[in-house]
Amino acid sequence: MADPSDPADPLALQVLPDPRELLADPGDVPDPVGDAARSPVPWVVRKHQDRVLLLLTKRCHLYCRYCFRRDHQPGATSDPDPEAWERALGWIREHAPREVILSGGDPLVVPVPRLLDTIDRLRPAVRVIRIHTRAPVTFPEAVTDALVAGLRARAPVWVVIHANHPRELSPEVDAALARLVDAGVPVLDQTVLLRGVNDDPDVLATLFEALVERRVMPYYLHVTDRVPGNAHLRVPIEEAIALHDAVRARLGGVALPKLVLDPPDGSGKVDAREALG
Ligand code: SF4
Repeated sequence: MADPSDPADPLALQVLPDPRELLADPGDVPDPVGDAARSPVPWVVRKHQDRVLLLLTKRCHLYCRYCFRRDHQPGATSDPDPEAWERALGWIREHAPREVILSGGDPLVVPVPRLLDTIDRLRPAVRVIRIHTRAPVTFPEAVTDALVAGLRARAPVWVVIHANHPRELSPEVDAALARLVDAGVPVLDQTVLLRGVNDDPDVLATLFEALVERRVMPYYLHVTDRVPGNAHLRVPIEEAIALHDAVRARLGGVALPKLVLDPPDGSGKVDAREALG
């Protein structure tokens, strides 16, 4: 639970508007991960030969202030119309990538029957489904028995959650993660490095250890995307590498995520150390 009375609270910092968001920064990039140029049809993004992103909605249970999908905010067109949706599914079935990542917005915002129907309509052209969702952390009630049973019946389906601070792992979140893992759904985590939230090796190590204890594998630690309005939350790449080194000195094996960044040219995630050269 965020403490809205404390502007430095690491949970509140992620979701409460801040006047600093109105300041332009020389490092701002309007399309910071280069999605626009990689979208063959609306609601589909392809950066790799073998996997494709399918955006189910632009809605989320809460709106993170650092998010690179800045058009996915209240008031924007929130869901594909039927024609656009058929076109997106048709494009994916025709190109048959090995893996489709269901994303958004948050794909667990949409009703469970629509989510499961989407998976069914991608099969058999697509074998592996990945669901990128912050819902198990921000709205654990979304991890219902019906959802878990539906994902289990449609294996292989992977769930990739997004946790940034150990305090996000409440008893309700723990229970949601356990429902998924107990059902045999593999769960990974992505964490975004954020100034004032988790730019501390102790916080990061505690988070990653706590995730492993919950049978969730820390997968990626992201260097903050250079979204206009989030400059006050960014951690520079050199500092990100130093933080990752400090965590690596304490953790190894499945507890240590890869440090990556998503460059604006749309080429997809790369190792942050290699990107620095
Ligand atoms: S839940 Fe995910 S998509 Fe939604 S605002 Fe947060 S980071 Fe962005």
